[in-house]
Amino acid sequence: MQPGVMQAVLVREVGGYELAELPVPEPGPAEALIRVSVTGLCRTDLKVIRHGHRDLTLPRVPGEEVVGRVVALGPEGAAAPAHQVAVGDRVYIYPGVWCGVCPSCRRGAENLCREMRIMGFHRDGGFAEHVVAPLQSLIPVPAGLSDEEAVFAEPLSCCLNALELGGVSEGDALGIWGAGPAGTLLGRAGSLRGAETVVIEPDERRRALACGHAAPPAMVDVAIVAVGASEAYLEALAALAPRGRLVVFSGLLPAADDAPHVSLNRLHYNEHTVVGAYGCAFRHGEAALELLGSGRLRVDDMISHRLPLRDLERGLDLVARRTGMKVHLYPDPALIPERSPQ
Ligand SMILES: [Zn+2]
Repeated sequence: MQPGVMQAVLVREVGGYELAELPVPEPGPAEALIRVSVTGLCRTDLKVIRHGHRDLTLPRVPGEEVVGRVVALGPEGAAAPAHQVAVGDRVYIYPGVWCGVCPSCRRGAENLCREMRIMGFHRDGGFAEHVVAPLQSLIPVPAGLSDEEAVFAEPLSCCLNALELGGVSEGDALGIWGAGPAGTLLGRAGSLRGAETVVIEPDERRRALACGHAAPPAMVDVAIVAVGASEAYLEALAALAPRGRLVVFSGLLPAADDAPHVSLNRLHYNEHTVVGAYGCAFRHGEAALELLGSGRLRVDDMISHRLPLRDLERGLDLVARRTGMKVHLYPDPALIPERSPQ
């Protein structure tokens, strides 16, 4: 690769992508240039590339789960970042850029900011050798935490937001539908909050890792659905105890029925709450990295595939068929950890 040029995945139209050579982006004021070490692949990327997404603008380099190393800083900007970083630092990138002044931002839900610009959706993301991110979005990776563990901060942040919105607390019976990477993280993080957690998963292999169950429990205080199937939502609603809360965590693909029949009378008589959860706030990223750095929440056993970026198609198939667990992509294959079994 020539200097000033990098390899990247570029989506020009929904339904496909190309491996392109793009100019290495220049950091602007209060921005940093980051050399991507590892980027996580999730169902959202599958949606972005193959089906399209509400927040996607094209053309775009996808990738919203990114850990890398700061290689250059742009000129100083007006706003003071939450964390000071220097060239050479390992950082996790909170994928959003928010305005800080709109009603959502002021109530601590910057993921719902009316000016929200998400990496991989509104601006270029981590499916590339380099990415530019605002200093405002950078969180240093704790010493002792590997890059491939730190990149779980993104999905884990979204899980922490969902647990918060579901009001999950000590002693709650918590049902998680789906033992994919998100469901497994929800289960582990929910248990750390003191909830009696049950993960419901029809697939035997996935169930084993999450210590899950095939059938739903008779009753749960909180149900979080981490699988994009309306049947799972109906099953979760049916299992809610009086005053129970359903968290709508997983979006549905366009082909799925996103308006299943729900009995309002059942919600009424049982005082059920239904709450959506989409993405995460900056503080969830900080909390996720702290949790991962503490060693209280293990994630390394969830990585099923470490692939070079050029094997994205294989990664997308693994995610689509739900045959792998967490799939990680490496723009620089030399950075793939040695112990990789693939
Ligand atoms: Zn805002």
